[in-house]
Amino acid sequence: MTPPVIEARGLTVSFTLPGGFLTRRPPPTVQAVSAVDLSVAKGETLALVGESGCGKSTLGRALIRTQSISNGRVLFKGRDITDLKGEALRAARSSFQMIFQDPYASLNPKMRVFDTLAEPLRVHGGGSRAEIRERVDEILDAVGLDRSFGARYPHEFSGGQRQRVAIARAVVLKPDFIVADEPLSALDVSLQLQVLKLFDALRRRFSLTYLFVSHDLARVFGFADRVAVMYLGKIVEIGPATSLVARPAHPYTQALIAAAPSPDPVLEASREVPRLSGEIPSPLDPPGGCRFHTRCPFVMPVCRSVEPPMLPAGPDHRAACHLLGSGTGPA
Ligand code: SF4
Repeated sequence: MTPPVIEARGLTVSFTLPGGFLTRRPPPTVQAVSAVDLSVAKGETLALVGESGCGKSTLGRALIRTQSISNGRVLFKGRDITDLKGEALRAARSSFQMIFQDPYASLNPKMRVFDTLAEPLRVHGGGSRAEIRERVDEILDAVGLDRSFGARYPHEFSGGQRQRVAIARAVVLKPDFIVADEPLSALDVSLQLQVLKLFDALRRRFSLTYLFVSHDLARVFGFADRVAVMYLGKIVEIGPATSLVARPAHPYTQALIAAAPSPDPVLEASREVPRLSGEIPSPLDPPGGCRFHTRCPFVMPVCRSVEPPMLPAGPDHRAACHLLGSGTGPA
């Protein structure tokens, strides 16, 4: 069987915060990502969703080794890359790309678009000048930008066009794995759909594999193959997008779906799901047991002391909730 393109096993990322000197206590530590198991298959789009601050972006960066890992392993095509350093790490990273929320901040304002796209090709021995020119033109065509735009600078573009340039730069080397971190957030709604379609078209054309980080569950329906829902550093539900939307098993996923109006009016009218209330607890002091228990409308005594394991919720669909183990299942 082909190994996944990327795989996390018990992946944990902790940050030590400043402080503790005056109180003589050890400095506080926050676990942004806590023992996450995850894999992404070749050609797949896995959406990683959850509220802001839940650890999604940190997990994405840890997978491509631009964020240090405190515990657990990361495997790239079956090879353990957790401890790679120096040149070996740089070589592995050339197989990965990241697309950011703010394309303007991620592009060099002093560099013409042509050079922005040609530079990675030159660095990685992308061929003669003519071959690089041809490849840049091909990628400009693929992202829907006129070839003449290669002569322009980032400030000459609209926000949507700049994001297309950033996507082109990420795709130009045909990487094995792309982390797109909230790539729609800076765009207005009409552009979001166009950019989503572009992501999908590029995936099919270049056999790309995406981890698509988003706070907006509704945006990724119909786009992602699978969805992983994250809460306070943990994956609480993962499954095929269609199954997860139609039959969300975790109360947190249910609440996220409730907060996102469905584009399907029939589904919208027939849905009865709880609304999410309360603030996300501090990751400095996450609740014991089920981390969602302080906000869960179905909380039971066991939820406060025992962390629920991931349990089957359907074909290739799992969720971490004691209700699944009790046989009753959430409403
Ligand atoms: Fe709610 Fe308990 Fe399930 Fe956590 S384990 S989501 S608190 S019912």
